Amino acid sequence: MKIRIIFFVLIIISVSCAPRYNIYFIADKEVMRTVTESTKQRCEDFIYYTPDSFSIMRYVRVNFHIMRTSAGEGFSEKEGVQYVHDLVGVCNYKLDLNAKMNLPEGNSTALLPVQYRIVLTGDPATGEDGIYFHDDDSACYYSRGKKSGVYSLGDRRPFEYSIGGDTILNLFLIEHHIDSILNPNYRGATSGVSFGHNIKIFGAYRNWSNVIYDDSGNVQNKGAGFYGGVTNHEIGHSLGLGHTWNQDDGCDDTPKNAGCWGPTGVPPCDGVTSNNMMDYNGCQCAISPCQLAKMHYNFWKENSSQRTLLVDDWCDYDSTKNIIVTKNDTVIFNAGKEFNRNIEIQEGAILIIKCTLVLPANAKIIVKPTAKLIIDGGVITNRCGDEWRGIEIWQSKKYPSLIGKVEFANGGKVEHVKNFTSIINE
Ligand SMILES: [Zn+2]
Repeated sequence: MKIRIIFFVLIIISVSCAPRYNIYFIADKEVMRTVTESTKQRCEDFIYYTPDSFSIMRYVRVNFHIMRTSAGEGFSEKEGVQYVHDLVGVCNYKLDLNAKMNLPEGNSTALLPVQYRIVLTGDPATGEDGIYFHDDDSACYYSRGKKSGVYSLGDRRPFEYSIGGDTILNLFLIEHHIDSILNPNYRGATSGVSFGHNIKIFGAYRNWSNVIYDDSGNVQNKGAGFYGGVTNHEIGHSLGLGHTWNQDDGCDDTPKNAGCWGPTGVPPCDGVTSNNMMDYNGCQCAISPCQLAKMHYNFWKENSSQRTLLVDDWCDYDSTKNIIVTKNDTVIFNAGKEFNRNIEIQEGAILIIKCTLVLPANAKIIVKPTAKLIIDGGVITNRCGDEWRGIEIWQSKKYPSLIGKVEFANGGKVEHVKNFTSIINE
């Protein structure tokens, strides 16, 4: 009895281990090249870069600088570190919860997931956490009344404290000068300004420390939760977005509006008001598909100011999980795409590459039996100075006609690829 079971187990093992497929990298001479009537994709048009289920998450590196007086007035180190961690959390929470656009009233604008987050960076080599304190009277204030020079909106003095500014977005928490606060028109508003890789955020400490207790004894202050909107707004500028309420920002889905903080019941702020991140309002929580497309195009574009800010993990091959084109689906990449994983085109599925597809060293494209890869005017390449691995064809041993197919149409090509010029059996 025992022997029979062992024999049975051996049969199962040998059956399951028998290779069912011929698997090999396709070679240049095997590729079918065609010309069809398809129109050329405008791959550099930002509007095609709205994130989809094949868009990877981007991480924007940030550092924070807490600017204090020479006497150290402002956040203590403990308070400041907590505040910044809370603020980063709130910013990412708002990005995670992207809201549906309020405007135009009755709109059917798609609500898409936001595919970027901010990440505190510092310097791993020194153990710095990305939160810095500077006690400097000449760089700790903003004075609304000053049109130029020290403490003005355009004063770049604080940016001398920038750390890793080529590849990290540096945010400076600066307080309103007493002259501004004493001004009868001063409203203590949260505000900021973006200068590319440097951002100033105003009044965070004053709003946080100005604690009021409500009737139930609960703390009411404008802390990190209140500053997530303005911080995301200023980062939005750095990532390439403009205001929407008062100008044409190049997007059809962000209508001009009255710029209301919220509905007041009094014209023009009666009725529905904007909740867009790039307007001034109490939510700043909605990012439209077109705005997302703009930022993602900037993330994609080589040598753009925004791409340099990203955690650059696209060259690090991750073998743990493949990008899947699901069985019998047809997927078209009509914008640039980059992955750090293999792409697996399952049985009966078709993947069409119209633009540039970037893969890291060791990553391959797996074309399962009856699946098809069409490189239609596009190019599959590597941007890391390496070679990606190749296009792997799967063929059923039992039914050889069940094989993955590859077609190069309209000048489509592969480059910086390891296994393409000759057949290599695995
Ligand atoms: Zn702005």
